[in-house]
Amino acid sequence: MCLLNFGQIAALAVDPIEKKPFYHYYPGRQVLSVGSWGCNFRCQHCQNWQLSQQTNCREVLLPEALAELTNHSARQESSICGLAYTYNEPLVGLEYLVETATLVSKHNLKNLLVSNGYINPGPLQDLLPFLDAANIDIKAFNDVFYHKICGNGRLQPVLRTVEALLAANVHVELTWLVIPGQNDSEADIASFVDWLLDLGVEIPVHFSAYFPRYQATWPPTDLALLDRLKNEVGQRLPFVYLGNTGRRKDSNIICPDCGNTVLNRQNGCITIGINAGECSICHRKIPGQGFF
Ligand SMILES: [Zn+2]
Repeated sequence: MCLLNFGQIAALAVDPIEKKPFYHYYPGRQVLSVGSWGCNFRCQHCQNWQLSQQTNCREVLLPEALAELTNHSARQESSICGLAYTYNEPLVGLEYLVETATLVSKHNLKNLLVSNGYINPGPLQDLLPFLDAANIDIKAFNDVFYHKICGNGRLQPVLRTVEALLAANVHVELTWLVIPGQNDSEADIASFVDWLLDLGVEIPVHFSAYFPRYQATWPPTDLALLDRLKNEVGQRLPFVYLGNTGRRKDSNIICPDCGNTVLNRQNGCITIGINAGECSICHRKIPGQGFF
């Protein structure tokens, strides 16, 4: 075995699925969340650098043990719908991921990926049959940011990953951690929206507030900037969300056609206005899965 972090678990927790974030996928459910160590990027602003940029192992769980733990957890707590590979960059442990995901699928539980999406098409094919949902980071919409701030990577392979996920019917949501003055140019955001519209699929987009972490010293993201982004991008895309705001209302799903709150996550409980995947008022289709 040549994979250095195979089975090395640095973080293991049960989290709300919204925390990954997934807003249009099994809302209100929980996922067992697992992370190892390591990343193929070196982002100056890494929000999880203790796991991504240094070795970190609390316990060893081979694929059979992790899949069994996921199954056991789901039997004990029915709100748990699967296993999320997250915290560090899961794709650097692809062999572990494929083995574990194969076993988790056999228990009829979900495999969820939270990733930078930077992987070659061939290896990705090994994982796709077992993957149910993915949240992919868009670090910026230009190569300069990937090169200078992330220390590796290019945009195009990430977009290619998103397209491959969609082609494999994986539920996809995207996250853009907004760093003022670094990756929020109007031109780049417009190109991002153009690309999404060209895909012809309604993908939930999360613009998240950044906080200074690791080597980054830029000031944190102003909520006013996020609100402005949501207003501007929301005129072109139907499902735009803000993350890390501390405001619960930002996670509600609003029908873009009639303004109905089709999913309300406030006050710790979820109420829905969706019937058979459609807004209960105007019958617009709401993309996603697992809306009860
Ligand atoms: Zn509606």
